[in-house]
Amino acid sequence: MLDSQMIFLSGKFVKKEEAVVSVYDHGFLYGDGVFEGIRVYSGNVFRLENHLKRLYESAHSIMLTIPYTLEEMTQIIVETVRINELQSAYIRVVVSRGQGNLGLDPSSCSMPRVIVIAEELTLYPKELYERGLKVGSVATRRNRPDVLSPQIKSLNYLNNILVKLEANQAGVDEALMLNDQGYVTEGSADNIFIIKNGIIYTPPVYLGALEGITRNAIIELARTNGYELKEQPFTRHDVYIADEVFLTGTAVEVIAVNEVDTRQIKDGKPGPITTHLLNEFRKLVTTDGVQCYPVSESKAVV
Ligand code: PMP
Repeated sequence: MLDSQMIFLSGKFVKKEEAVVSVYDHGFLYGDGVFEGIRVYSGNVFRLENHLKRLYESAHSIMLTIPYTLEEMTQIIVETVRINELQSAYIRVVVSRGQGNLGLDPSSCSMPRVIVIAEELTLYPKELYERGLKVGSVATRRNRPDVLSPQIKSLNYLNNILVKLEANQAGVDEALMLNDQGYVTEGSADNIFIIKNGIIYTPPVYLGALEGITRNAIIELARTNGYELKEQPFTRHDVYIADEVFLTGTAVEVIAVNEVDTRQIKDGKPGPITTHLLNEFRKLVTTDGVQCYPVSESKAVV
């Protein structure tokens, strides 16, 4: 048993209590940086390659050079899981512009800062999956892709935080974000799917949704399990009259929605396709990814 959680910070592992960054870091001053949230299931880092691809693409888009190769970054993440002796965990990878002066110009920052935190996962309560989430659409619109692309998973999450605040104020579990044209995009930190007459729909990402790793896994699982799935724009009305609605994300996995803007979804219970896809997803997560420990070792602990 470790006496302290170890965090990878700027090239070395340090104790959690000592993992501090400068107040001049532009990630802190301006939200200038990128991040990823990743899950570990039974010692397996789920779809690490896909998460790292998204991280490097986000960084490329904001002209931030991650000071490690993909292979090195993979090793750092696996090592962070191992050093903390974790089997099931949540990993946060942060790459900030680094320390600079008070001006916003990134050219004052000489070295990007890389942080990897891996910690024990606090699971969402089982009751939430049985009951389903209450969701409410909010006044704040999703960032327009031509202003700040939702595909850049940047440290600037104010758009999402503002909608979460609205959801909290409205007393619902999660917010539903519309784009500037009123089409449904996504939740504050999750993608949305609806099902009508056996067909599954999710908004195309160009409308203003992050291309979620879980979203993509669910699209694949739905198709391999014989469901018809369409990436197609839809409105709040389509959500209200859907047979099933669910959200997907690294943290929440696949979770049913039982109410949207006070309209009950069908009979108000998680539907059969949602439940089927959640079960399929939970089967997938322990196999599809990067194994942190030799197979025998991880099996012994699970
Ligand atoms: N949309 C937003 C805005 C998010 O922050 C997240 C969480 N990363 C998602 C969707 C879901 O993406 P993923 O399945 O990759 O976690």
